[in-house]
Amino acid sequence: MSNKAAAAYHPNKSPHLGPDCRDNKHPACDGRALNIITDEVTQCGCHCHQEKP
Ligand SMILES: [Zn+2]
Ligand SMILES: [Zn+2]
Repeated sequence: MSNKAAAAYHPNKSPHLGPDCRDNKHPACDGRALNIITDEVTQCGCHCHQEKP
């Protein structure tokens, strides 16, 4: 893994969207997405998963 990519990556704010969120099917998304940089499963960064106060 490149250290440069890791430095540019914000751990608490995933820019990756799950395929369902990308298709605007938010209720179908299980909160997982694929990190295209590391090719690992990561957290879906869509706002629909954020808990509302
Ligand atoms: Zn969503
Ligand atoms: Zn999602």
